[in-house]
Formats: sequence, structure tokens, C-alpha cells
Amino acid sequence: MSSGKILAVDIGGTKIALGVAGREEFRRTGKLDVVEKFPVPEPRTPDEVVPVIFEVGQRLLQGAELEVVGISIGGPLDHERGLVINFPHLPGWKNLPLVSILADTFGVPAQLDNDANLGALAEYWWRNREKQDPFLYLTLSTGIGGGVIVDGKLLHGLASGGGEVGHITVQTDGPLCDCGNRGCLERMASGTNIARRAREILTTYPEKGKRLRELVGGNVEQIRAETILTGYKEGEEVATEVWLEMIRYIAIGLGTLIHVISPERIVLGGGVSLAGDDLLIPLRRKLREHVHYIPVDQVDIRVASLGHDSALIGAATMVVESL
Ligand SMILES: [Zn+2]
Repeated sequence: MSSGKILAVDIGGTKIALGVAGREEFRRTGKLDVVEKFPVPEPRTPDEVVPVIFEVGQRLLQGAELEVVGISIGGPLDHERGLVINFPHLPGWKNLPLVSILADTFGVPAQLDNDANLGALAEYWWRNREKQDPFLYLTLSTGIGGGVIVDGKLLHGLASGGGEVGHITVQTDGPLCDCGNRGCLERMASGTNIARRAREILTTYPEKGKRLRELVGGNVEQIRAETILTGYKEGEEVATEVWLEMIRYIAIGLGTLIHVISPERIVLGGGVSLAGDDLLIPLRRKLREHVHYIPVDQVDIRVASLGHDSALIGAATMVVESL
């Protein structure tokens, strides 16, 4: 007889993903049977979104017995109380008891964690055969987030604030971050912010960055992190300056973390990690400058391999682990 089903839900700023798997099958393989993705239904309030999640979930379950729901969302939350503190991308998702709402809707227990923690859990359980631990996961994307696993468990800490690596200070008196601090890693090195930095340079110095301008058809506003990577690969001057500056800040942030948890493995996920060796090689070089007390060359640093579904797989992993 097959086991009951688990439902994983990943709520993003623009898209929602749902996945279903049999509990025991997932425990063996880490694979979801079906995944469906759809845009967040307008006007994107909980009242509008929750019924759509229920409808899609029921359809994916095809009448099978559901045991538990695992939920992933970005932004600050209270893991213990199952509360979304604030999800600024969606209106009305503030102090929202999402766990009890979805548990009532589906009539089964539910659990909640943030997308970076769940990405960490997924990469730890399904792409880390030797269970190297302590384990550190960073997502380098429009923002920077992270998850820390010690002795096989995610570190949540006070107010579920563990692993908020994007808000480590890497530049004293740097520019103001959304969190209220100055010079946060996210503010200095996220995909959004390196694009902003390149635009600033090109606007201030009209004689610079001829090739980088060509890559966006002369419209500097179109510069994205991907444009900078392309420029860096070609050896373009401004792109190289901005890319290596990003790596320097990531190395300062990571160096701090390495001194605290001395990880056996670090996995870098998110869009910027798709750069692969263009990220890893200069980063390892820079880390050697900042970390002397710990044998940094023995830290296994690699890019993530689960891609866009890592938070969804992590949500399923979280609930399977707790059953
Ligand atoms: Zn910050």
C-alpha cells in the first residue's frame, strides 16, 4: 500500500509553485511527482491567493489522501508560530498566521520556513551524499539570503533570524540597506545592486564602458547582473571592476561566516551562482586573503544543483523529516 501524500507550496513575489509526492517515495528519492507553477492571482491578497492554492492542490492530489503541507515563502517569518511577519512583495501578507490558515484549509498539519532555509535543507539532504556538516547555503539573487545547518538541523535562532547572511555588514558606512543598516552584503553584492553599481559608473563616467553599453543597445537602464557577467567574461573594464568588487564583498561576508561556523561545505545558489567558475575561482582566491585561521582550502565550496525548485523540494523535505 502506498503512503499518504505531501504537498509542498512555494510562494514567491510573482509566482507560486505547488508540488505533490508520496511520503515514502519522496523520502527515498527527494523527487516530487507533479509540480505546477502559476502567477500569483490578483490582487495578491491572502483572501485571493489561499483559495487558488487549495484548488490547484486538490487537482494535483487527484483524490489521494493528504498528510501534511510544507510551505516556503521569502522574507521574515516566525518558524515556531507559523507566522509570516512581513512579505513586502504581496499586499496584506503581514503578521499572517499562514500555517494555521493552510492547515485549516486542507484539514492537515502544516509547517513554514523561508525559501533560503529550505533551499539549504534541499541541497543538504539531496545533493550532499557524505552529509558534510556544518553546511552553509547562500542564495545570490535579487537579494542575498542563507541557511545554516549544524548537526543535520537548520539553525533558526531567536525570532527565526538565523542565517540572515544578507545583512552582515561588509562596508562600514556603506549605502543604506532596506533593513536600516548600512553596507549590508545584500546592499553591496546582490544581483540587483551590482547592476545598480554598473549603471552608476556609466552615468558618472560617460567615456567608460563602451562595450557594456553596446550589450544593452545603449540603454544603461537595461543592465542586469547577467549583462555584467557577459562583460566580465569578455574582459570589459567596468564589468570586471563591478564583478570583482561583488566577489570581494561576498568573500568578506563568507569569511566572517567561515570563522563562526567553520563549514565543511558551502553551496551557492540563486541566479548569480549560474556563473559557475567565473564566480567560484575568483571567490576562492579572495577567501584565501581573508581567512587564515581556518584551512579555507579544505572547505568544499560549490554552486547549487537543484535550480529553481530547491525551495519547493526543501518544503517537502522539512515535512517529511518531521513525520
Ligand atoms: Zn540589510
